[in-house]
Amino acid sequence: MSDTSHMPSCPHCNGQDLWRRGRNRAGLQQWFCKSCERQFVIDSRQQDLKKVAGRLIVAGVPVPKIAEAMSGFISRRTLYRIRRELNG
Ligand SMILES: [Zn+2]
Repeated sequence: MSDTSHMPSCPHCNGQDLWRRGRNRAGLQQWFCKSCERQFVIDSRQQDLKKVAGRLIVAGVPVPKIAEAMSGFISRRTLYRIRRELNG
């Protein structure tokens, strides 16, 4: 069984081939994406929200409704991307 749902993905290219790069001054984990060679930080709260959003999408809740509920933490564009991924 392969469970990669806990793995972060690159916000730029959505790649999962990542290197840890320590933490920044705010204490957030920094990552380096091997695919697009960009560095970024992941806010774990946002990751959790994405998981919740994924469940809502699977449950059939319309994206605009979810975006509203997330009050700007996750953009509509990201939600549509999550939906696209979930639908394969
Ligand atoms: Zn990337």
